[in-house]
Amino acid sequence: MLTTPCPSCRRPKGRGKYLCGPCWFTLPQSARSALNLRDTHAHARLRELHSQLTGGVPLHEIQVTR
Ligand SMILES: [Zn+2]
Repeated sequence: MLTTPCPSCRRPKGRGKYLCGPCWFTLPQSARSALNLRDTHAHARLRELHSQLTGGVPLHEIQVTR
């Protein structure tokens, strides 16, 4: 099965997942529930996540606008 690297730790993650399991569960609950919403803002939230990862924000401090 093809996998892509986790954008946080670079380990393989499942396809269609934003992060690998351990990284995902390090995110604050509020960020996880916002990222799980599949509406018209889903891509904007993903950009928020990635820009914070790129900016070096620790996983447990990442905030995603709902
Ligand atoms: Zn990871």
